[in-house]
Amino acid sequence: MSQTPSLKSQQFRVAGMDCGSCAKTIEVGLLSLKGVDSALVSFTTGIIKLSYDPMYVNETAIYDRIVALGYTVERISEVPKSPTDGCKYNQNHQHEHHCVDIPKTDTAHWKFWTTNRRGQSVILAGVGLILGLVAQKMALSVWIARFFYGIGIIIAGYPIARAGLFELRLRRADMNLLMTVSVIGAVILNDWFEAGLVVFLFSLGSTLQLFSFGRTRNAIRALMNLTPSIATVKRNDEEVSVSIGTVEVGETLVIRPGGRIALDGIVIKGASAVDQSAITGESIPEDKLPGDVVYAGTINQTGFLEVKVTHTANDTTVAKIINLVEEAQESKATSQQWVDKFASIYTPIVILIALAISLIPPFAFSQAFDVWVYRALVMLVIACPCALVISTPVSIVSAIGAATRLGVLFKGGYALETAGKLHTVAFDKTGTITQGLPTIQNVYSISASIEKILEIAASLEIQSEHPFAKAIVAEAYKQRIKTITPENFQSFPGKGVWGSLNEQTYAVGNRRLFKEIGIPILSEVASILAEVELKGQTPILVGNEKQLLGVIAVSDGLRLEAAETVRLLKQAGVKKQVMLTGDRDVVASSIARQIGITEYRAELLPQDKLAEIQKLQRNGVVGMVGDGINDAPALAAADISFAVGGIDIALETADIVLVGSDLRKLAYAVNLSRRTVSVIQQNVVFSLITKGLFLLLGTFGIVGLAVAVLADTGSSLLVTANGMRLFQVKDNFHYTSPRVEKRL
Ligand code: ADP
Ligand code: MG
Repeated sequence: MSQTPSLKSQQFRVAGMDCGSCAKTIEVGLLSLKGVDSALVSFTTGIIKLSYDPMYVNETAIYDRIVALGYTVERISEVPKSPTDGCKYNQNHQHEHHCVDIPKTDTAHWKFWTTNRRGQSVILAGVGLILGLVAQKMALSVWIARFFYGIGIIIAGYPIARAGLFELRLRRADMNLLMTVSVIGAVILNDWFEAGLVVFLFSLGSTLQLFSFGRTRNAIRALMNLTPSIATVKRNDEEVSVSIGTVEVGETLVIRPGGRIALDGIVIKGASAVDQSAITGESIPEDKLPGDVVYAGTINQTGFLEVKVTHTANDTTVAKIINLVEEAQESKATSQQWVDKFASIYTPIVILIALAISLIPPFAFSQAFDVWVYRALVMLVIACPCALVISTPVSIVSAIGAATRLGVLFKGGYALETAGKLHTVAFDKTGTITQGLPTIQNVYSISASIEKILEIAASLEIQSEHPFAKAIVAEAYKQRIKTITPENFQSFPGKGVWGSLNEQTYAVGNRRLFKEIGIPILSEVASILAEVELKGQTPILVGNEKQLLGVIAVSDGLRLEAAETVRLLKQAGVKKQVMLTGDRDVVASSIARQIGITEYRAELLPQDKLAEIQKLQRNGVVGMVGDGINDAPALAAADISFAVGGIDIALETADIVLVGSDLRKLAYAVNLSRRTVSVIQQNVVFSLITKGLFLLLGTFGIVGLAVAVLADTGSSLLVTANGMRLFQVKDNFHYTSPRVEKRL
């Protein structure tokens, strides 16, 4: 996988990160191990991507280092596993014991506090604090009170101090270090109660945050857990249950009603309704017949299915989606880059101020030493930009998580921030506004038989991806017409195809293609074409080098929700909507009218669509919606691109993928983006204001340590909670995946 054959790549999942800087700490900590070549740690997903030389370092050493840094770690097995598998399915059994530490943040609340080590230490720190206070109030010996405070401080403070010390060795100051110094300072100043309170509040705050944020993080992981780890496969005419990792492409899966489909494949036998909501967010099951694609993680509802496997376990659509989403959550939004930059300047400045406060008044103005040292400690707490740093990633992760559940995949923070700023949305027609499942309406014979026309057309079109091509091939198949393998096949995007069959050259496509080849369109043919177009159908011409042989009329139904989508977009504040199509003006104008789009441009070649996008960009941010067939240049030129339908092509070409068949997800994406941007703004402004306020109050000695910590953890929690609201953003419509005619 890597360039140097001796390097090994492995992914781990780490738990316990509660601030953006933790990721950096782990990265640096791992890189300082001899033999570790590269380490990438994502704060938002908790994933570590590591490559290392097994000659120098082994997995145990890596685990030990991460644990020493104060985190818990789990190896990610290559194959998605089910939640009940626990760690059993990890290929490397010797590390099973590391799995018990992982906080099961998605289980019941109380369990988290009693079974998770962090939760336990927070509770113990609280108990120590209360006992110390009681001892103090009862005027017992100061040593008894100090003993209880001390226990609380050590139990909850140890992991903080350990992480802080590690930072110090890397010559960086993070919140753990700042807190550690403040607590030690408070103890030296004999403020045991405050020291205990600071430790308690700080660890309570970060644990709460970890707990709540972990739930959002885990929502994506839940998607992965949808795939069963065991599949029933037909081998030697016998049904066997095997681990999905061992199933190969081409094998036959057997899925009974109620069973989850374990791998992507094509139905070869049976008929059923399949609930695909896990992937598309659309709750109405889709009918599946032989020839239809089914996805891993979806549920077979009514019938018995036999499915030919098309992708191995690591390569399924759901695996790709998870990868994509995890990467998207890692990618930094523009606002986050700004925040990170600000934080990296802010902290050292405040530390310097703290230093000045502790030294200048006592030495220059002979003020009381402990008063000013105490104020300096307060400043150190205020120097932590936690809420600010966390404000953006929390919002992005929550929004991306919410969208994924509804079948809207954002490729990253940029896409999420930009979708709400759209001025214009440009739509491709075929496959985007129409269903992309065209059917043959009529075949007009001109100088060849209908069978011959279909045979020629299907033989060439079998090589093409275009929806019209697929319709022609399906029609030929239905009429049991055999196809011939073409030679010199060529495809002309936006026009059609050509190639030779048995030494004769043929062309299949639109008027423009035939004009370019120089085949005349006689007046009787022209009237057929006009008749077809008047019905809202698209004529596809079939001919050889010299003459037209026939015309195939295809029609592609509009998406039922296309008109509503246009309306929803207008509601969402998108000013302009334009349809771009390679089809004829007559067809384009009739479709535009039906769905309420006032502007359209017809008879465009792929490069013309690109030029149109560039023209539209003069007015503002332009989004392009397409299916990836013949519109890749336009998708690439737009500020933001949306892909509908086919997941495979779409994943590569677009910034935002609308999985499934509902176009209204477009409006959802725009609305969600708006909400996200405003939540991020609220968070950033709120954190800046609270920090500024406490900076002032701290300088004048108005707030104490405990209040400063409370403000800090409190604002982090508020910001987290505000960001997590995005996880609940639903679509305000019900998906009714349009019933489309299925072909055999
Ligand atoms: P749209 O812009 O509506 O999505 P395309 O750019 O994909 O349409 O195609 C424009 C026109 O080119 C189609 O209406 C059709 O007439 C013709 N065409 C493109 N590809 C093919 C093909 N493979 N076979 C036949 N006709 C084609
Ligand atoms: Mg198209």
